[in-house]
Formats: sequence, structure tokens, C-alpha cells
Amino acid sequence: MIAELRNLYQEVIVDHSRRPRNFGPLPAANRQAEGFNPLCGDRLNLHLQVVGEIIREARFEGVGCAISTASASLLTEALKNCRVADAEALFASFHAMLTGEHQASDAPLGKLEVLAGVREFPGRIKCAMLAWHTLRAALQQAEQPVSTE
Ligand code: ZN
Repeated sequence: MIAELRNLYQEVIVDHSRRPRNFGPLPAANRQAEGFNPLCGDRLNLHLQVVGEIIREARFEGVGCAISTASASLLTEALKNCRVADAEALFASFHAMLTGEHQASDAPLGKLEVLAGVREFPGRIKCAMLAWHTLRAALQQAEQPVSTE
């Protein structure tokens, strides 16, 4: 059962890395940030359209490994019509999942749980977190490109 679940998770990751969702420019964006993971060479630009307290649209561009691309794809799916405060809670919950500190009281991750297996590969955690750090920078309107280092 666990092996089957793993295969299913892996299929979702491969699918999102080959056919990333929400990939491309977002002319209506009013927040954006650039992220770079020097350990792997992953680069991405995240574009958000924030209206009031709601993230209406999220799209990304860039070049990265399968994990960073799948993570950005899944993140942008999760962000659509998400409240900014809920996006912050998701960041904390996702980070806790990858560091093995997830608690039952953390925000439910839903489909994002397919990336849970990354915690077994410490060298890839920064690949999975890149889109999330970039999200934080975009929400904080950071001017400088963010780095996972
Ligand atoms: Zn990577």
C-alpha cells in the first residue's frame, strides 16, 4: 500500500514537472519575485495578482529540476483564490512537512503532500522550497532576488 502510494505520488510529480501548470507570464500581476537555488541551479519568477486579501492568479516562469518545477506548479495551483494569510499558513505547513516537524494542527496540505517524500533527500529540500521562498518574497514585495542560500 505504501509502495503504491509512493508510485502515485511520483507520477504526480513527474506529470507536473513535464507539464507544469500555470507556466508563463501574467500581465495582470501586481506582485512578483525572482528565486534562485544555487545548489541546483533552479531559477524561477513567480507572478501574483493579489486583490485585497486574496491571491486571484499565480503563474511562474523559469528553468529548474523536476522537483523545483513540480513544486512551483503545485504551489501555483494551491494559491488560486487563496487568502494571503492562508498562503502564509501553507508555507509553514509545507516547510514543516519537509523538515519532518509536521503537526496535526498545521494547515492541511491536500495535493501538496505528494512532495512529502522529498524530506528523505535533504539535498533536494531547497529545490522543493524555492517556489515557496519566492512566494514569501513576492507577498512581501521584496525588491531583491531571493536565494535559498
Ligand atoms: Zn533543483
